[in-house]
Order: sequence, then structure tokens, then C-alpha cells
Amino acid sequence: MIQPDRLVQTFLDLVRIDSPSNFEAEIGQHLQARLQALGLETEMDAVGNLVGRTPAGQGSGDWLLLSTHMDTVGTDRGIKPMIRDGVITSDGTTILGADDKSGVAAVLEVLTTLAEQDLPHPPLEVVITVGEELGLYGARNLDTSRLRSRHGIVLDSGGPIGHMVISAPSQDNIRLIVHGVSAHAGAEPEKGINAIRVAAEGIAAMPLGRIDAETTCNVGIIEGGTARNIVPDRVTVIGEARSRDNAKLEPLTARIVQAFQAAAGRNGARLEAIVARTYTTYRLDESEPIVQTLAGEARRLGHEVKLRGSGGGTDGNIYTAAGIPCIVISTGMAEVHTPHEHIAIADMVACTELLLAAVGRLAVTRNS
Ligand SMILES: [Zn+2]
Repeated sequence: MIQPDRLVQTFLDLVRIDSPSNFEAEIGQHLQARLQALGLETEMDAVGNLVGRTPAGQGSGDWLLLSTHMDTVGTDRGIKPMIRDGVITSDGTTILGADDKSGVAAVLEVLTTLAEQDLPHPPLEVVITVGEELGLYGARNLDTSRLRSRHGIVLDSGGPIGHMVISAPSQDNIRLIVHGVSAHAGAEPEKGINAIRVAAEGIAAMPLGRIDAETTCNVGIIEGGTARNIVPDRVTVIGEARSRDNAKLEPLTARIVQAFQAAAGRNGARLEAIVARTYTTYRLDESEPIVQTLAGEARRLGHEVKLRGSGGGTDGNIYTAAGIPCIVISTGMAEVHTPHEHIAIADMVACTELLLAAVGRLAVTRNS
């Protein structure tokens, strides 16, 4: 059995260590020390991803990847966790950081329990990435050829325990730079081509928001202009498109670029479009052993199981693309990326018990 009080204490300790994306050095060192204290061999790569390995205990089995990320979204620091009525929140001025420190805490509690009770488990590969919130930066820069795992569990989702993600979208990063012509806004505006106007026409004409059940797009950032009295010659618009069907994503991305191209053409401006596929969609077969194991153990523990598609990518997209099929499970985190982020202690405990059960089930013992 796990120890709920210890689990909660670990979680509180972790969220009190500031770790917005790009500032993970302190939490990385803390986690490396904790993994080493639990007997894992660790390595940290050049970008700060932490990998810990421990051989099988009391049996054997295929290497199992346990995936979480150590960065928290945005720039919030000084998180002050509070517990009220069995729910952990921030003080309301910052995120909580349950995304993804609830996952990290669950993994640490499972490793602690396995070690102290000498329980059977397969060889475990614990990967804690940096920069997940920047578009899977850490996982994309991880040398996945060094991973030994046959399959994996990603702890980085919300919803009821028992709801699991077996399909995630592809994502295109779309950077559109409108090049206009600058001019004095009062003396000779007719000599200018207003890049902000061109960008506005492009944004107004492009598809936006939810396209269908598995397809979305967004404009997230717009930057441009230098002064009130200068016709702006340059605007950068950063957006994205996602779909769990690449056959839908490619034409959607093309339509977004075309909307800007047409606006540039009408106004005599020039468009520079940079499109990059950040990560690739996947769908696990329900017969995959990792899916069967998690679903089976969740049912046995009394959870209603639902295998679903997600609108968001995780590090699991990268590992699955690298040949390590990953299921994404809920840690109980809720309203993530907002100051209302919270997690119920009961859900945190249930997630950790599910993880412990699944790890035990994946151990091949002499009697099984
Ligand atoms: Zn996350």
C-alpha cells in the first residue's frame, strides 16, 4: 500500500520549488537526488531532462517507461499550496502546478513503496522532462534511441481516474510574418503598406477555434509595429492547428496560410510563412498490453474506464512515435493552466494506487 500522507507531502514539497519552463535547474537537481536516494541510476541530458533507471524487483518483464514533466506552465513563482476539504489549491494568485507535479509525486511514491516493501516490478525507466509546456521541448530533444522501454505510462492528464488517453493530435506551429512598408503616418501614409492591417485581414479570414471533434486551430500571439506615427512594416502572428487526423490537419494549415497570403496579395505586402509539425498524432490499439493492463487494473480498483482521444499532445506523442506506445492517465489535476487549478487528495491517492497496481501487474514473476 502507498502512504497517502507521504504522497501529499511530496506533492507540497514539489510545488513549492519554482520551476516555470526554462527554469528547471533547481527542481531537476532535487528530483535527481530523490531518484538516487531511491536507488535509481540517473542521468541528466544537456537540456535538463532527467532519466532514472532501476532493474526489475522480484521478477522480470519488459522495461516500462514512467513519464512526467518537471516544468510548470507560464511564469508563476512562489506557489503557496493550501488544503481545504480534501482539495489542494494555490492561494488563488498563481497556478498550483499539479500539472505535472501530481504525476511526479505519484511516480516517487510508487518507487518508494516498491523499494520499502520489496514488491515485484518490471525494470523501470523514469523520464522527467523539461519544457513540456513549451511544446514538448524536452521530449523532442531527448535522445529516445537510448530509451530501453517497450511501452509506457504518461501521467499528465485530468479527468476521472479511469479515463485514459489512447489517441492524441498532431500539432502544426504556424508563424506568419507580414512584411509591409513603413512610412511617416502623417506626412506620407500612402507610401506605406500597413502590416497590421494585412495581419488583421488574414486573422479575420482564417478558420479559428473548433473545426470539428478532433480538429482545432488558434491565433495565440501577435507582435508588430514600432510607434504610433509610423506605418508598421512588420507583424508576426503565431498560431497553431491540431487534429487527430493528418488528412484534416494539412489542408487546415494550408487554409490559414492562404488567408494571410491573400491578404498580403490584396495589399501589396509580402508573407513569410514558417510551418513546423511539433508532434505527430497516434492512436493505440485497445489490445495493446499497456492499455489492457491499465484498463484492467482501473476496473479492478472500482473505476469506470473510458478510453478516449485528447485535444492535447503530451510527451507520449514523442515516445509513441519513437516506438514506445504510451497510454496517458489522469492524475486528478483539474482546471490546469489557471489560478483555479486544483487536485483532490482522494484522486491523487487513487491515481498512485492505480499506478502501483499496474506496475505490479506488468512484473513477470516465476509464478505468473
Ligand atoms: Zn502537463
